[in-house]
Amino acid sequence: MVIIGGGVVGCAVAMEVSAFAEDVFLLEEMPQLGMGASSRNSGVIHSGIYYAKGSRKARHCVEGNRLTYEFCEKHGVQHRRTGKVVVAASTGEEPQLEALQRRGEENGVTGLRLIDRRELEAREPHVHGRAALEVPSSGLVMSEELVKAYARVAAERGANVLTHSKVSALEPAGAGARVTSERGTIEARAVVNCAGLFADEVATLTGFTKYRIQPTRGDYCEAVPAKSHLVHSLVYPLPEAGIYSLGVHLTKTLWGTLLVGPTARPVASKTDYESDRVPVTEFARGARALLPEITEADLRPAYSGIRAKLAPADGSARPKESADFVIERDPRIPCVIHMIGIESPGLTAAWSLAKEVAGMVRETLK
Ligand SMILES: Cc1cc2nc3c(=O)[nH]c(=O)nc-3n(C[C@H](O)[C@H](O)[C@H](O)COP(=O)(O)OP(=O)(O)OC[C@H]3O[C@@H](n4cnc5c(N)ncnc54)[C@H](O)[C@@H]3O)c2cc1C
Repeated sequence: MVIIGGGVVGCAVAMEVSAFAEDVFLLEEMPQLGMGASSRNSGVIHSGIYYAKGSRKARHCVEGNRLTYEFCEKHGVQHRRTGKVVVAASTGEEPQLEALQRRGEENGVTGLRLIDRRELEAREPHVHGRAALEVPSSGLVMSEELVKAYARVAAERGANVLTHSKVSALEPAGAGARVTSERGTIEARAVVNCAGLFADEVATLTGFTKYRIQPTRGDYCEAVPAKSHLVHSLVYPLPEAGIYSLGVHLTKTLWGTLLVGPTARPVASKTDYESDRVPVTEFARGARALLPEITEADLRPAYSGIRAKLAPADGSARPKESADFVIERDPRIPCVIHMIGIESPGLTAAWSLAKEVAGMVRETLK
């Protein structure tokens, strides 16, 4: 069988299916694994508080949170269960914190607790807020290490992990599919499309055009080292309406720096990480709402990532409610499974998502 794309999702799928399938090939276009969104993110192991009850995002985030910690402990991937706070800036926002707590509890997130200004101050003395929701199961992981570790386990189980292998054609071949890449042609009994930002284009190779990805850039800034002590763990504002983005937040990274971001902006290109960055002034404005001691002079532009957001079917640029992860069999070649719109919390959810897809692959190979 073939997996297209060697980001965190493709590597986790390769790991899961190579436990029972033979001749597993993971084909990655780039010279290394995980060079897309999987290494251009916040590295947060999310808890699952934000997503609609019963959605794939909610289920796989909550289960993925547990699995990611378990995997990191077993395989020596750097991580830390830091916990996080979602902060209400004013008393007017407090009902939204309560709603978030209820949503999280409905999704099965445990340990959530509303804390008042005093407790917030004891935890994060420099953060400004009236109250906060404490989320103990959130944490951080070195995302590049996680990708490599999933791929390592896959390879130990016999999977063939190939880079420099862009897939350019996907056609029916008997009951299976013919996959053409820079490495040649493979006849496969099952194929999983894990091409991230390009998953819609890979789907188009079979004529499946139902979904389109709207690339959505997230830029980050980093605080100068002298200011990184201002935050101890993860500090978030309330999310934007419809969970379009979690809002510009503050992350004390595993390597001790303080990240501010990411922003969220629809862009035309899936490969342009540099041009037209959000100005530092805007980051400073967002960050100061949570951290009044930070100034524009304290911030430097850092990296950016591009989210694989599903474009709304009605053609609008911005959905009212963030869409769920899509996992669908190809209507023309049913042994091909497409994973589309795997935006946040995809890093957290990867192994759990891989288990769902592995179940479908098992059915296909019967
Ligand atoms: C700014 C930002 C912040 C985020 N923060 C978090 C967070 O804190 N926590 C969290 O859980 N999630 C977070 N996410 C989401 C998370 O990073 C993604 O959901 C996850 O990395 C998606 O993994 P993937 O494997 O689907 O995609 P990718 O990592 O993009 O991998 C897809 C791979 O497919 C390859 N590919 C594409 N086309 C082809 C082809 N034709 N042939 C062969 N290979 C191909 C690409 O080169 C790429 O390596 C964030 C995302 C962004 C952008």
